[in-house]
Amino acid sequence: MPIFYDTHAHLDYPEFAQDMPQVLERAEGAGIAKIVAIGTDLESSVRALKLAERFPSVYAAVGWHPCQATAAPEDLRPSLREMARHPKVVAVGETGLDYRRGSGESPESSAADEAGNKAKQAEIFRQQLEVAAELGLNCVIHQRDAFEDVVAQMQPFIGKVSGVFHCFVDEPAAMRRVVATGSLVSFTGIVTFKNAGNVRETLAATPLDRFMLETDCPYLAPVPYRGKRCEPAYVREIAELVAQVKGCTPGELSLATCATARSFFPKLGQ
Ligand SMILES: [Zn+2]
Repeated sequence: MPIFYDTHAHLDYPEFAQDMPQVLERAEGAGIAKIVAIGTDLESSVRALKLAERFPSVYAAVGWHPCQATAAPEDLRPSLREMARHPKVVAVGETGLDYRRGSGESPESSAADEAGNKAKQAEIFRQQLEVAAELGLNCVIHQRDAFEDVVAQMQPFIGKVSGVFHCFVDEPAAMRRVVATGSLVSFTGIVTFKNAGNVRETLAATPLDRFMLETDCPYLAPVPYRGKRCEPAYVREIAELVAQVKGCTPGELSLATCATARSFFPKLGQ
């Protein structure tokens, strides 16, 4: 059975509080050998790290999500640094920029609030890039309607910090720009959605060694589970569709995506 990794899972979310051992058992049964639990603020990062300490197949990324930016401390770096030194912390994030209206905490905010929020997002994104650079880690990037600004903020870190532009749904031209700077993209269950022909087009154009697989669970369950709680085991369904689109065998996809993940997350091990 080909092995896959779930490189982006919100295992610390309340949706998984009741049945974590079963969720991980199903993942193992489906050949999902490693899972990266993604932190979205300091508390969430601590929870992700605790899961990584408790379960051998779980690793953690520690960071602060742009949609929570207003609640972030002035200086995130000291707490992040301390956590990120842990042997099972494989990346910083998720971080990035999200300019979609209503995705922050105050959907009815004024123009001044919005400008302040963007500035705070940029500030904590920069802090996370700095910590990643210091510790030799890469970043898990969330971006919505902010592609140009994300690329611009990462520019000074090229060669030191790569990013995985997670849940990638942009066009092939955007993917090429990401890849040209040494960063990666990753694809979720969206690739299985009937109306996601454009995402499959981008996937088809992405070099086999420049992307990873993820669920972004509990969200974005692939077909045939669409609309239900997503979980890491469903990387299998995503992988089947991705192999078809790439015209390769599941075994070839397994080798390529797992090797990419191990080089992107240097502490993921073999
Ligand atoms: Zn996420």
